[in-house]
Amino acid sequence: MKKGLYIVATPIGNLNDVSARAIEILSNAEVIACEDTRVTKKLFSLLGISLKKNFIALHNFNEEEQAPKIVEEVMSGKSVALVSDAGSPLISDPGYKLIKKCKEAGIYICTIPGCCALVCALQLSGLPTNRFMFAGFIPNKEKARKDFFEPLKKLDATLIFYETAPRILKSLQAAKDVFGNREMSVAREITKLYEECLTADVDELILHFSEKEAKGEMVFMVAPFDGDVNEDIDLEKLLLQKLAEKSLKDAVKEIVETYKFNKNEVYELALKIKNDK
Ligand code: SAM
Repeated sequence: MKKGLYIVATPIGNLNDVSARAIEILSNAEVIACEDTRVTKKLFSLLGISLKKNFIALHNFNEEEQAPKIVEEVMSGKSVALVSDAGSPLISDPGYKLIKKCKEAGIYICTIPGCCALVCALQLSGLPTNRFMFAGFIPNKEKARKDFFEPLKKLDATLIFYETAPRILKSLQAAKDVFGNREMSVAREITKLYEECLTADVDELILHFSEKEAKGEMVFMVAPFDGDVNEDIDLEKLLLQKLAEKSLKDAVKEIVETYKFNKNEVYELALKIKNDK
């Protein structure tokens, strides 16, 4: 086996998704760089791969100091495999600093592709696949969540996020506030027994996950911005409803931001409704 760094994808739920090439590389590599050595050793045992190797922990909190050590291992003539706990290394997982250092050192780098949760989810969603943006994990705080979504609002691309079950309702609600009533999708437990992918209007998804407690790992997706999203909305009816709940200024602001109507048009109609009362 040629000395170098091998980026090896592992399954995201179904053990049978490991490739023959991944097994070959993991069996022959002398050093395994992995996030959690316990998780990777368990995987090796399940796959029947020998544990007589040097396992080096490489995670988000030690990558800076571990990367040069791994580079040294390769330079000394060893073959190193990089894996994450599950799926494709480097995708919302550590590794890019290591790859950068290996490239600078002129090390041979090879990828052994396989499962990647975001790609599997996009395939299952029925949302457009010609252009997409993966934005990683959604922040956990309410304001941070909306600030995170805001710059993505008018992107003509399917938006893909990693999410965890206990937070999905809050993310759906924040997504509704920022993106409006678009089609969205939640793919969970991909490649596992209870794999499912629900694609529907955001209100339907909110209802679904309010009634049924969400479980398992998830990928959350939002349909691309469509300049015509407000075509089917009855602006006068919406304004009447919002004006009954809040001030004219706040009602106009919310409708403009959420449904992308022209601000002057909304403001003038709001004034007319107020004056007619
Ligand atoms: N690098 C991995 C990949 O791209 O395949 C992802 C690692 S990231 C730390 C873990 C996140 O990926 C989970 O929180 C979830 O959002 C997503 N994920 C991983 N496995 C999944 C699965 N089987 N079904 C749905 N989402 C999954």
